[in-house]
Amino acid sequence: MQTIFEKSVTGRSACQIQKPMSEETELKEFRLTLDLPELSELDIVRHYTALSKRAFGVDDGFYPLGSCTMKYNPKINELACNLEGFTQSHPLDETENMQGTLEVIYSTQEYLKEVTGFTGLTLEPTAGAHGELTALMMIKAYHLDRNDTKRKKILIPDSAHGTNPASAAMCGFECIEIPSDKDGYVDLAKLSELVNDETAGLMLTIPNTVGLFDKNILEISKILHEKGALLYMDGANLNAILGIVKPAEMGVDLMHINLHKTFSTPHGGGGPGGGFVGCVKDLEAYLPAQRVVKDGDNFKLDSNFPKSIGRVRAFFSNFGVIVRAYTYMLSLGKEGTQRIGRYATLNANYIRVKLSQYYNLPHKVNCMHEVVFNDEVQAQYGVSTMDIAKRLLDFKYHPPTIYFPLIVHGALMIEPTETESKQTMDEFIDVMIQIAHEAKASPQMLHDAPHTTVVKRVDAVKAARNPVIVCNMCCS
Ligand SMILES: *Cc1c(COP(=O)(O)O)cnc(C)c1O
Repeated sequence: MQTIFEKSVTGRSACQIQKPMSEETELKEFRLTLDLPELSELDIVRHYTALSKRAFGVDDGFYPLGSCTMKYNPKINELACNLEGFTQSHPLDETENMQGTLEVIYSTQEYLKEVTGFTGLTLEPTAGAHGELTALMMIKAYHLDRNDTKRKKILIPDSAHGTNPASAAMCGFECIEIPSDKDGYVDLAKLSELVNDETAGLMLTIPNTVGLFDKNILEISKILHEKGALLYMDGANLNAILGIVKPAEMGVDLMHINLHKTFSTPHGGGGPGGGFVGCVKDLEAYLPAQRVVKDGDNFKLDSNFPKSIGRVRAFFSNFGVIVRAYTYMLSLGKEGTQRIGRYATLNANYIRVKLSQYYNLPHKVNCMHEVVFNDEVQAQYGVSTMDIAKRLLDFKYHPPTIYFPLIVHGALMIEPTETESKQTMDEFIDVMIQIAHEAKASPQMLHDAPHTTVVKRVDAVKAARNPVIVCNMCCS
């Protein structure tokens, strides 16, 4: 497909600018410096319509991308965040003019405190990784404030998401890896051995990235707290336990919430997010500086917190994400919220049971919201996880997460989410079973997949080593 610049025809235009004589030269120069493509309105409409048909999202079909929670994004969320009162509000306006906006921010904050059990919460960070960095800065500030200057190490299980060690390193911590035991849980003996007076904290994903709820969580928090270290929860998988268990009651000191995952914001392709951080009383003083507080019937901004780590964002995250999350919370209510995790878990276990005769299951226990298989059975025919994922494209499915978590060789991580029906999952299961048969009968066909997509199998290594990220027609 040609780029919009390649389709440009000199002199063609989608609009007519009425230019006063005196500004003619100025406009010409403006046009020259910008070097925009020249197309008719119809050319533009066709170009973007064609592009949109090449994309794939939750609104197109099943998208079981593990650890990403690609649930359905209710359209009422879009309606709410496009209300003029929200789209036209400006963060530098007088607070009396933005009482409604501040109320939404405040109410979202209070709701999230309620479901997590934390007493403090910031709505500044814009993504999970941003929340991780914010929380780690708070952990650092907490220890330094107590003159506990030796705590330079952060413990991270080997099943963790790559952002965990990246955030810890960015914050100046040394990362120490904790191995998982054979069942996929934190190795308690190793943990006890590794925690000492140099440990600032542990970053733990709950449920973890193998889709399991670490049943030793209370023991884990006890081991850390006895040695003066903090427990940080990566809350990317909160969807599985939302409204059922409060992280603060499991001994978690602070956590981030991926609003775009758990609270339904379209987030494929790295779109706008929210990585809000909740914390217990002892850590509240270090939260980012900008907070919405309630003053009688009014809401106001307060940034007078001397021990705060400062601001991590100019204003409040991506405000549209807050409105979407708030709308989602209100439309589900308490009971609806509690159904999220139960249905997500039920769906993942349904797929686990139905596919376990065809695909190897490294951890043979009930899972939470996602199930991790691998390619051990198919490998005997030379078929890999990559081949299975590519073949799924022929059936118009977004493949599951592959080769993550790293502790499972050839991982295929399926997260159906609570919004998928039994019919959708049954169709997917049938396709997965068919692929398992194909692996044995015609492995070459799987190596050559996908067969029906516009772009066939891409050279992922070349794309990573020699990325072409600028169009040399327009940006030479
Ligand atoms: C998605 C995810 C993150 C990072 O969140 P972003 O919003 O993408 O920055 C961290 N940890 C886990 C387990 C995740 O799934």
